[in-house]
Amino acid sequence: MKAIGVLTSGGDAPGMNAAIRSVVRSCIYHGVKVYGIYYGYQGLIEGEIKELTIGSVGDIIQKGGTMLYSSRSEEFKTPEGQKKAIEQLKKFEIDGLVVIGGDGSFRGAKKLTEQGFPCIGVPGTIDNDIPGTDFTIGFDTALNTVIQAVDKIRDTATSHERVYAIEVMGRDAGDLALWAGLAGGAESILIPERESSFDEVIEKIKRGHERGKRHSIIMVAEGVGSAVDYADQINEKLDLSTRVTVLGHTQRGGSPTATDRVLASRLGAFAVDLLINGKQGRMVGIENNQLIHHDIIEALEQQHNIDDGLYQLSNQLSI
Ligand code: ADP
Repeated sequence: MKAIGVLTSGGDAPGMNAAIRSVVRSCIYHGVKVYGIYYGYQGLIEGEIKELTIGSVGDIIQKGGTMLYSSRSEEFKTPEGQKKAIEQLKKFEIDGLVVIGGDGSFRGAKKLTEQGFPCIGVPGTIDNDIPGTDFTIGFDTALNTVIQAVDKIRDTATSHERVYAIEVMGRDAGDLALWAGLAGGAESILIPERESSFDEVIEKIKRGHERGKRHSIIMVAEGVGSAVDYADQINEKLDLSTRVTVLGHTQRGGSPTATDRVLASRLGAFAVDLLINGKQGRMVGIENNQLIHHDIIEALEQQHNIDDGLYQLSNQLSI
């Protein structure tokens, strides 16, 4: 392996920069040239490629977003687009690619590997929705962003005796809502992986109210629907004025937490090790704090599961 390329693709996540830095410096450490591919797969097709040095990735470990920028590319989904991408990689004499992104980006990496170009996927998404790893880069930062918001909302909720429905991201996964609900002391957590009884949500609000509780927080994963709709339903049943906060893209930004920086550094270096050792079509991840790798597509075919123990515990603690 003489030269490795690195790109970020799909939704950005805090910690992607730390992963890029790790890939770049690990390559240089091992005497391998390293190229940054800007604007994801679209930039690859268009040849937005530049050699990176140790200094290129200085002062980025603490920054959110991605210095390589990201994009979504319809053209790359076509065989012609993939052919153009491989031609660009050959032109720069790149012989391995690290793709930092979510499941869509991994499918793209698999397509290139099938066409003979070695790729390794590094999971970067705040949603934590990639099977084959306990955590994705960006999840911990997003979780902490949500928690900071929940704590602030709690202050005002207590002052005004209110119910708050807070909608968080996660696409079809409920991890962010579950972890934030548990860490933020939510009364109810609504996630796509578990059927929640709306009557139970109402019962909990009532019980809390009778006990003299001044506020209730309902954590709503975007995958179960809109917090506005849930708030309307609560207001209809209880004659309340439930307030809604949709945290939206604030969850995608910000300086990565130490946990995300360490995870990104470990996974980036591991991806380079695998390429140097002749592996391809793999995704890297972390399970029980050990670095692991799986076939990229077999991993994506597994179902993503939430931690049932955490779900049970959150119910137990929010009686
Ligand atoms: P994420 O990686 O965050 O899940 P997307 O699903 O938008 O984000 O995927 C990012 C990019 O990966 C897409 O814009 C496309 O270029 C590429 N991609 C996604 N799915 C495929 C696929 N099935 N085949 C080839 N490329 C794909």
